Amino acid sequence: MSYCLHCGRHVKGRSDKKYCSLKCKNAFFYEKYKSTKHSVIESVNNQLWRNRQILHRFIGTSEAETVAKYDLLHAGFNFSLITNYKIKDNRECYHYVYDYGWMYLRERDVLIVKKLVTV
Ligand SMILES: [Zn+2]
Repeated sequence: MSYCLHCGRHVKGRSDKKYCSLKCKNAFFYEKYKSTKHSVIESVNNQLWRNRQILHRFIGTSEAETVAKYDLLHAGFNFSLITNYKIKDNRECYHYVYDYGWMYLRERDVLIVKKLVTV
């Protein structure tokens, strides 16, 4: 005797059947997909928020601040997660995390700026 993976009821019929009905089978995969999707969104959102907090902390009350790339990484900054970007004068690429931006300066430095324009 086996039990339905979705509702837990006994499954009648073949012993390798995993669901009591097609409805339960669909519901099981829907729930599984939903939770996976949710956790991906949640972890990206958390990291974006963390990125913003780190930029906020490093820039302090200044309008712009140069920091070492290493210091950002050490604080838990993830350079691959941004909310948008802007290329200025065909060469400077500003990466934004909500209302803060950053740009690679030299090899080891990053310039953090407060976003002046709105989306
Ligand atoms: Zn069921």
